[in-house]
Amino acid sequence: MIEELHPAFQTEFEQVLARNPGEREFHQAVFEVMLSLTPIAGTHPEYASWSILQRVCEPERQIIFRVPWVDDQGTVHINRGFRVEFNSAIGPYKGGLRFHPSVNLSIVKFLGFEQIFKNALTGLPIGGGKGGSDFDPKGRSDLEIMRFCQSFMTELYRHIGEYTDVPAGDIGVGGRELGYLFGQYKRITNRYESAVLTGKGLPWGGSQVRTEATGYGTVFFADEMLKANGRSLEGKRAVVSGSGNVAIYAVEKIHQLGGKVIACSDSGGYIVDEAGLDLDLLKEIKEVRRGRLTEYAEARGGAVRHITDGSIWDVPCEVALPCATQNELPEAGAKALIANGVELVAEGANMPTTPDAAKLLVQAGVLYAPGKASNAGGVATSALEMQQNASRDSWSFEKTEARLQHIMETIHHDCMETADKYGDPGNYVMGANLGGYLRVADAMVAMGVI
Ligand code: NDP
Repeated sequence: MIEELHPAFQTEFEQVLARNPGEREFHQAVFEVMLSLTPIAGTHPEYASWSILQRVCEPERQIIFRVPWVDDQGTVHINRGFRVEFNSAIGPYKGGLRFHPSVNLSIVKFLGFEQIFKNALTGLPIGGGKGGSDFDPKGRSDLEIMRFCQSFMTELYRHIGEYTDVPAGDIGVGGRELGYLFGQYKRITNRYESAVLTGKGLPWGGSQVRTEATGYGTVFFADEMLKANGRSLEGKRAVVSGSGNVAIYAVEKIHQLGGKVIACSDSGGYIVDEAGLDLDLLKEIKEVRRGRLTEYAEARGGAVRHITDGSIWDVPCEVALPCATQNELPEAGAKALIANGVELVAEGANMPTTPDAAKLLVQAGVLYAPGKASNAGGVATSALEMQQNASRDSWSFEKTEARLQHIMETIHHDCMETADKYGDPGNYVMGANLGGYLRVADAMVAMGVI
């Protein structure tokens, strides 16, 4: 693997492996960025002499803490909390919190690392960070979730702040959890510091469109990719993995733009609804009841299949949006998609496509967008929420959605331009990684060795 990197970066990558043993996801994320830096190897001597790459790969701060909490039966549980404050060259650390049993330091670091470049691509002044816990919210009562969030914030509050570090949601952390987290922050600090968290509810400082932003933004980006190639979403069959926040609003926007989503998934399997997903039913099950996709199949009767073996990527489609989790689209999934004539894959999740799968897609001429670019609408709208909080303002849905769409169009344009400029037209991975990296690196050079 290391031989694929330009010789100028091989030693740097070896150092990352040695300094972060066993952190497989983090290695994968760093490797992908380093691979995209090939066109600037040997240029920009200031980046080399200021050790920019080495510093970018080392988080500015990593916080790991104990989160004790009591369940409804009076049993004490101990979870682990994380916040990795990765890079603040262009603004306060910004990135979500994930509550999922798989969370560990490697996952938080890969997410934080990706976040640096994604946030830079938005053109807004936000640095990169990420956090979370190995707490599993599934099956927990509201009161248990509240007690966990309060305990988590009782440590986290000392590390965050509107000018320091601004968390948001991610897997397992939605409006309910952010409410409990914000409430505890407000109580401990005795400050109504709205911009300390984003993804808040509308009555207490949230922004219109934040809930929809990542899913909508991914589809706006996909639409731009199709348009740039003389095509459109109209009439396209789409498959969207996951059925959480990102997936649901990706489905909504595809339907609004004339496409038809026929399949989605959760960790228990996937459903195929050839008539097009019934979004109201999906929202009722996932957002209100917090239920499973089996309930969707039951409600739609024999018209819908719930499948527990095989893969959602076996479902023939022209547009595929992986919107669940990392490494969920492996080589076999890419082969199935290509064999069935997929035209476009745009990532709503973070790093959902394995490197081998991504390579296959690109070789087969499939339009392929990395999450750093295509799912940046969520964090961009978080930055718009911070803007509204800072100016004690709140914008209409239409104004905020127009800003989101414009930001996604700009990111698309910038990725294309960077890929063109550095000799690989149409390579969105290179365009996103290199474009984001150059912005951060220039700011780091300007600020000296800190
Ligand atoms: P949610 O918790 O709302 O939904 C996650 C969905 O993915 C659920 O349907 C879940 O199923 C499924 N899922 C999670 N883990 C697995 C797994 N190991 N195997 C199969 N399915 C799984 O999270 P979000 O929608 O917010 O996030 C989804 C992805 O998008 C993540 O990669 C996240 O980092 C990324 N993202 C999110 C942003 C946001 O604004 N929310 C912003 C940018 C990126 P189940 O319920 O069964 O676990």
